[in-house]
Amino acid sequence: MAAERTLAILKPDCVRKDLIGEVTRRIQEAGFKIRAMKLVQLSRAEAEGFYAVHKERPFFGELVDFMTSGPCVPMVLEKENAVADYRTLIGATDPEEAAEGTIRKLFADNKGQNIAHGSDSIENGRLEANYFFPEFEIINNGG
Ligand code: ATP
Ligand code: MG
Repeated sequence: MAAERTLAILKPDCVRKDLIGEVTRRIQEAGFKIRAMKLVQLSRAEAEGFYAVHKERPFFGELVDFMTSGPCVPMVLEKENAVADYRTLIGATDPEEAAEGTIRKLFADNKGQNIAHGSDSIENGRLEANYFFPEFEIINNGG
């Protein structure tokens, strides 16, 4: 059986800061295999759909504004325990609360603009991967 997968997004602030390589290197050094990856500009409808679970929250408009403010880089990552390990690697939602050495602690400006997204469950990882990538864009035979 394939190792666990998660859906990561390098958010528009990560792309604007020219940190795609830096953050991707840290992800790979942590043992994740990239199974899909691309640069995309989300429409408002696409960002609203992706974060639909938060649509009643007060920050929803701000979140959609931010996620559509420039291109982002969704990627499917694979590793044993990928969902939890990737969330550990990026750190808490608010960089001020994130552990030292985590991606958000190192690179994020604030809770809204926090560099990276990670799925919060295996099932959501699968749904989110399918949101961005058709089946033929996800690699199943990588080493
Ligand atoms: P993500 O889903 O992006 O990986 P997360 O799971 O750590 O982040 P969620 O609670 O799912 O956090 O919130 C989704 C995103 O909404 C956060 O990453 C952040 O960009 C934004 N967000 C959450 N809470 C706030 C807030 N209080 N103010 C502004 N933005 C927020
Ligand atoms: Mg979340």
